[in-house]
Amino acid sequence: MEIQSVGVVGAGQMGNGIAQVCAMAGLSVVLTDVSSKALEKAQATIANSLARLVKKGQLSDPDAVLSRIVFSNEMADLAAVDIAIEAATERLEIKIDILRQLSALVRPEAIIASNTSSISLTVLAAQVSQPQRAIGMHFMNPVPVMQLVEIIRALQTDDATHAATVALAERLGKTPVSVNDAPGFVSNRVLMPMINEAVFCLYEGIATPEAIDTVMKLGMNHPIGPLALADLIGLDTCLAIMDVLYHEFRDSKYRACPLLVQKVAAGHLGRKSGQGFYRYDQ
Ligand code: NAD
Repeated sequence: MEIQSVGVVGAGQMGNGIAQVCAMAGLSVVLTDVSSKALEKAQATIANSLARLVKKGQLSDPDAVLSRIVFSNEMADLAAVDIAIEAATERLEIKIDILRQLSALVRPEAIIASNTSSISLTVLAAQVSQPQRAIGMHFMNPVPVMQLVEIIRALQTDDATHAATVALAERLGKTPVSVNDAPGFVSNRVLMPMINEAVFCLYEGIATPEAIDTVMKLGMNHPIGPLALADLIGLDTCLAIMDVLYHEFRDSKYRACPLLVQKVAAGHLGRKSGQGFYRYDQ
């Protein structure tokens, strides 16, 4: 099955990036969110991102790309899509609700994918009427820049769904890497405990945020330090991922650092709220 149309649920930083790369690849896109503010922000973010590509000489017709994206408050507008990609907030109950709605809405042959960072795809697939058509499509942030798409096969995913999803990632110019379903998959099983450990270094007064990030950049050749990366990902998302690892593995090594918990409680979510381990509001 060749995918021509894509629905994206959740127009936050990941959803708007996914919509942009799909539209740039010539696909028609419906981007939905429960928040009108998020949809307005998504439209502005995509327009700015396309304008930057024009300036760099990498895109000639941004209006044609934008014209392929419908921004909508109504999930019902996804009824005809070939694939629906859920990219809403990293909370199990939100994702279950969205997947059940999508399942009742889309054609039986449509693929239902989730961009979850950590939640079990097998649990999510069990929510839909065609679980063999469910799969994880884990884009990286920022989506237009990052090469990887981690493809997660649920226990129920069939070969045709997997092949069509891999082909879509390739059509978007990305490199798909397929993994089996497990908490945090490969990417966040490895990345998030490292970020959490960096937060512990700060919490225990071992070093400043700048020093921690510089050690990891200059010493380990990371392009961005773990605390700056946490701010980019969103501290609420980082905490949600740690909590999934902790609850699924029942292993105290995955306990979230109390400072991460506090930052989220204070609404200091990183770049998206203007403040996290660093400030972005000046
Ligand atoms: P975000 O906070 O920027 O955006 C989430 C969006 O979901 C918001 O606009 C919110 O209004 C919307 N939403 C919430 N409930 C909804 C519902 N019921 N229906 C429709 N929309 C709803 O978050 P994000 O960083 O874009 O993350 C989205 C998903 O992508 C999460 O599952 C996250 O784990 C995953 N992810 C995030 C990153 C990252 O670096 N931030 C990377 C890969 C994957």
